[in-house]
Amino acid sequence: MYTELNTSNRILMGPGPSDAHPRVLKAMSTPLIGHLDPEFVSIMDEVKSMVQKTFLTQNHLTFVVSAPGSAGMETCLVNLLEPGDEIIIGVNGVFGGRMTDIAERCGAKVHKIEKQWGDIITVEDVKKVLNICPKPKLLALVHAETSTGALQPIKEISDLVHNAGGMLMVDAVTSYCGVELRVDDWDIDAIYTGTQKCLSAPPGLSPVSFSDRAVQALENRKTKVQSWFLDLSLVKNYWGGSKRAYHHTAPVSSVFALRESLRIVLEEGLESRWERHNAVHQVLKAKLEKLGFKYLVEEQHRLPNLNSVFLPNGNDEALIRNKLLKDYNIEVGGGLGDFAGKIWRIGIMGESCTLNHVNMLISALEDMNE
Ligand code: PLP
Repeated sequence: MYTELNTSNRILMGPGPSDAHPRVLKAMSTPLIGHLDPEFVSIMDEVKSMVQKTFLTQNHLTFVVSAPGSAGMETCLVNLLEPGDEIIIGVNGVFGGRMTDIAERCGAKVHKIEKQWGDIITVEDVKKVLNICPKPKLLALVHAETSTGALQPIKEISDLVHNAGGMLMVDAVTSYCGVELRVDDWDIDAIYTGTQKCLSAPPGLSPVSFSDRAVQALENRKTKVQSWFLDLSLVKNYWGGSKRAYHHTAPVSSVFALRESLRIVLEEGLESRWERHNAVHQVLKAKLEKLGFKYLVEEQHRLPNLNSVFLPNGNDEALIRNKLLKDYNIEVGGGLGDFAGKIWRIGIMGESCTLNHVNMLISALEDMNE
């Protein structure tokens, strides 16, 4: 016999998902309504408007992909790239690598800017690659590289790609609602994020937004988008326009949860939320350093919400990480790629970004040291 579902009450301080607010969990248990019910259509309109506000954009083509962040990534790339198009991609961690894989599957010619994991892509790096590829269709960057904890400057690079006649695409999965992100001011043409990080909603949805320039590029396509599900020319009518037509069945309960998490963000205020992530990070940093942890990323390029740290010498990271989970119910993330077995990725995102979370983690570590 299978037993009733009964999971542990974890404290989520890894690279996502983060803890969800009880209001979000309550919204998720709201009785179902049909996805074409006029009430649900109004809810979709509200969600779209709240996503525009949290992205700081007026873009009309703003909606939520019914699938996780990787599907948001794929939505941007499969719609904006056609076979033979040239794209420049910053690769300084796992997610730039994933973008490259998808872009190659689209038949695009990829120019990678490869940097050491933990470093950022600089203006000089972009200028160099623009000498080899002077007219890219797209330049893609990961704003917050979750595999390393590096925060990529975006604004400085935006003008470079636009002056070259290209568009700027940004992965904001880990930065959205946690660090400064301004889609219109930074002139970002295509952006996607996820729900499970600083928004503190359940995983499985991907808010996206496209500028008028990107919409124009979609309209000028010569070939069909190779993915039916992610083809914006089909899905966009489901999330807007005068005629709401069936495209797929939206994950109704997840959209309820997303709506509540967005309401919470707007009640707090975006700037206050960015400030909270930074303030809690400063406390966590001081306490970790006192215990002998060392940061992977240089201070000026560090993400406040995802702390990548080397453990003090001689510590078995997997052993301690598993003990934290088993004995203290605290989840932190291990390293990826070359950093597997070497670093921890400690997330303080959304509802998991409180002094209480920091104190719980630090007390558990001190307790284990005794
Ligand atoms: N991009 C970044 C920066 C991420 O951190 C993640 C997930 O952790 C993704 C993309 C993919 O998102 P998902 O796992 O929701 O598909």
